[in-house]
Amino acid sequence: MNYLSTVLNKSWLTHDVFQLSIRKPDSFKYSLGQAVEISLHKDKEILKAPFTITSSDKKDSDLQFIIKVYAEHHGITSHLAQLKINDAVSISDAWSSFNYRGPGVFIAAGSGITPFIPTLRLLKEQNKIDGHKLIFANKTVEDIILYEELSELIGTEFYNVLSRDQLSEHSKGHVDSAFLNSVICNTHQHFYLCGPEKFLTSVSNDLKALNVKKNFIQIVN
Ligand SMILES: Cc1cc2nc3c(=O)[nH]c(=O)nc-3n(C[C@H](O)[C@H](O)[C@H](O)COP(=O)(O)OP(=O)(O)OC[C@H]3O[C@@H](n4cnc5c(N)ncnc54)[C@H](O)[C@@H]3O)c2cc1C
Repeated sequence: MNYLSTVLNKSWLTHDVFQLSIRKPDSFKYSLGQAVEISLHKDKEILKAPFTITSSDKKDSDLQFIIKVYAEHHGITSHLAQLKINDAVSISDAWSSFNYRGPGVFIAAGSGITPFIPTLRLLKEQNKIDGHKLIFANKTVEDIILYEELSELIGTEFYNVLSRDQLSEHSKGHVDSAFLNSVICNTHQHFYLCGPEKFLTSVSNDLKALNVKKNFIQIVN
């Protein structure tokens, strides 16, 4: 089913990532961390793509999304970035792309952080954040989405890994086996992975090489 909605607000979080808030259609239902397909009309074309709802189904009256813009693709994200307040968008029914199964390590690259945001917020609110780690891969410090909030949520267990930043205090390079080995002391816990295909393949192979059992690795895509 498709639901019609309108834009309530838009604000930039980084140079190429913005938060979009839209009106929650009356009959639309979702649960924490689910995704929908957003579609919008552009001339005679309909552009569609999946995005995670980052708002809370219990606390927020609007629907929020965090969207990374790929200007060079001239696709849906460029057009979403140009939306103005009261512009129309449609959303599909919501589905689960990620299921929280218990304490563990969240490993995300870039906009792959979005499915984990509502869960991290809820764990903090319920005083259940201890025992979790967040490993977040980006190119530079300027690319880190919600850095302050994530630092506040997860404190010293927030590990940033930057591939193109030699100056910051964060780890440099990639989330590879040496890095994982240095921060993971317990392999009998859940590992939640989200990011580009190449990142998912290499991190899950590195985790398996560290003796993490396949059923402890959840790939969100
Ligand atoms: C379940 C799920 C949840 C998601 N949640 C989020 C989220 O919360 N936030 C978020 O930012 N993203 C999320 N994504 C990813 C998001 O759907 C894509 O990033 C988005 O579709 C990219 O849109 P686009 O602007 O590239 O345009 P599209 O309209 O998808 O593509 C436009 C054109 O770009 C081309 N293209 C696509 N990829 C590439 C590439 N890598 N290199 C070159 N050309 C390319 C296509 O062939 C097409 O012609 C999610 C994906 C899934 C599956």
